[in-house]
Amino acid sequence: MKRDLETFPSPVSRLFTPQQLKGLNRLGDFYCPGDELMPAFSASGAAEGIDRLATAMHPRDLADFRLLLTLAARLPQPLLASLVNLLDQADRLGPWAKDLRMARLGAAGVAYSLYYGFAGSGGPRVRAAIGWDAAIRSSISGEPAMNQLVRDAAPDLSPTAATVEDAFQRAHSAQVTIAALIIEQRLAVLDRLGEVILRRRDEIIARVSQETGKCATDALLGEIFATLDNLEYLRKNARKLLSDRKVATPLAMLGKKSRVWYEPLGTILVIAPWNYPFYQAIVPISIAFAAGNAVIHKPSEFTPLTGLIESILQEAGFARDWAQVVYGDGKAGAHCLAQRPDKVFFTGSIATGKKVMAQAAELLVPVELELGGKDAMILFADANLDRAVAGAMWGALTNTGQSCTSIERLYIERSVFDSFTVKLVEKVQALQLGTGRDDDIGQMTTAAQVAIIRHQLEDALAKGARQLTGHSWDRQSPQIPPIVLTQVDHSMLVMEEESFGPFLPLMPFEGDDHAVSLANRTIYGLSACVWSGDIARAQRVARRLHVGNVSINNHMITEGNHGLPFGGAKQSGIGRFKGEEGLRGFCNIKAVMIDGNSSKIEANWYPFTEAKYAAMDKMTVASRMRGLGGLVRFALAGLPLESLANKLGRKGRKG
Ligand code: NAD
Repeated sequence: MKRDLETFPSPVSRLFTPQQLKGLNRLGDFYCPGDELMPAFSASGAAEGIDRLATAMHPRDLADFRLLLTLAARLPQPLLASLVNLLDQADRLGPWAKDLRMARLGAAGVAYSLYYGFAGSGGPRVRAAIGWDAAIRSSISGEPAMNQLVRDAAPDLSPTAATVEDAFQRAHSAQVTIAALIIEQRLAVLDRLGEVILRRRDEIIARVSQETGKCATDALLGEIFATLDNLEYLRKNARKLLSDRKVATPLAMLGKKSRVWYEPLGTILVIAPWNYPFYQAIVPISIAFAAGNAVIHKPSEFTPLTGLIESILQEAGFARDWAQVVYGDGKAGAHCLAQRPDKVFFTGSIATGKKVMAQAAELLVPVELELGGKDAMILFADANLDRAVAGAMWGALTNTGQSCTSIERLYIERSVFDSFTVKLVEKVQALQLGTGRDDDIGQMTTAAQVAIIRHQLEDALAKGARQLTGHSWDRQSPQIPPIVLTQVDHSMLVMEEESFGPFLPLMPFEGDDHAVSLANRTIYGLSACVWSGDIARAQRVARRLHVGNVSINNHMITEGNHGLPFGGAKQSGIGRFKGEEGLRGFCNIKAVMIDGNSSKIEANWYPFTEAKYAAMDKMTVASRMRGLGGLVRFALAGLPLESLANKLGRKGRKG
């Protein structure tokens, strides 16, 4: 893209000289050169936001930054290019280059923040290109955060078939360079990724809240903390889990060595939903990358976080094609899948999961599906009731109930049903709605989801359910108060279909068998929780639940431990994500046997003879015998076979 420094009006600044602004534009062009969609930094008007950004800087950093900009303005182009190159290489120069590294992070961070719209200062042309105008305007003016329900229609960024094909080709080439890195190098990049995320967390939270409508604490914990925690898990464990593994060699193969090698699969296609758009991007990208893969990430069209993931990865040191983002709706996802990735990692609804699996089946692309849930909470009377009330509220309402593992059905032992209900209603009514830092329940993200909640509520009420809270909801607004329902049964949609909203439907049960049969009465099998003072009983019940994850006296904590595998049973999914299983799920798990380069002929190689058959038969019988006796018999049967094989090898059939 042509850089038109001269044609774009110079930004006005109180804090920087025209020369320093020129330096900013020149430096910005290195980090944000633009492409067919976006203008170059200097042509975008992004520099206009520099005063706003600079007021947040420490005075000492500001002085250094001014110096850097003056330098950037004065240096001839080739020297400036060398300077940027030097800054970019700072990581490789060792610990002494710490200041250079800080300068690189500072310069790149300022350029990205301005360009991609930190605090609304992204240039008008960039905003027009990526359609953030409405969302960004709200954060400047202090208007309430706007999510997808009220935001201006996003521009159609759907890629053409050629763009997708090109992205995959670049990913395949880039993967070769990723695989050539040793694991420590890949983990160093992920370590920097953690640093960048931590430093830019407020910006990420603001973007995520604007696009999803979630409250700040849900964004901080669900998107930032959980992502950093996963990176930490990789830092501590990936090297060991991806190392070659020795496996015992059976007696019949004495003398050989058995190994498992964990190799990259190639290019992974990640297709993500809208409920945790940052976490659902960075976590699979990081795990797949740690295992040596390139990634194409296709975010939800409802929460694309346009430009943010790329900017963060790039700042962390990801080369451009190591992980790419392809925007668009389901058609873009299908386009990507048609490129035959080496695996598709899909998170979303059952309905789409079936389509993805059908398309992948045609191409024989390996599939991992992380699908919906209808999680049950089973509460026994001997549990601590106050804690269970608080846990139930959080488990059902976190992320406004829009978590795949939200509690969606609450089965309460009959003897405490009334007291639990009274306490729950009282606590639920005290929750605060909104997206701020002291709000508890954010907004729904999509209009379609609001319609589902309305439909399920009306269906339940028509079939005799009693609504105890949430009457203030006008059945249209995305800000839905928690809705506690009693007198529900399994004829109602709210007990059968995924809700993905702030419902708490309560149903009494009597005895373990009843609780288990109610909880298992669903096509879903994602997760569940059992609450009881008797841990042994809770575990007995938990073992009988057909789910992929279960928490005892808590909810969703299996997801919080990144060393545990995560995934669904029944129609909630196929495969396991995170932990040992998840990391190795992005690997070609290669079985290896190493034999010596001897002249020995194997007993089971040709030719077959009567004598050999008889010896093998003896050995087969001996192989089933246990203990020392069996071992001796096996050896006695094996020895003549060895010599027979060697003789046959030398003398042919007659030996
Ligand atoms: P969705 O199935 O509508 O969409 C998910 C993604 O698939 C989006 O990026 C979408 O553009 C894409 N897509 C749509 N059609 C496609 C096609 N034919 N080929 C390829 N891609 C296609 O789901 P959603 O509404 O975004 O997310 C909500 C669902 O996700 C809920 O059911 C929720 O339970 C589930 N979820 C599951 C987990 C989990 O880990 N099990 C986590 C989060 C969300």
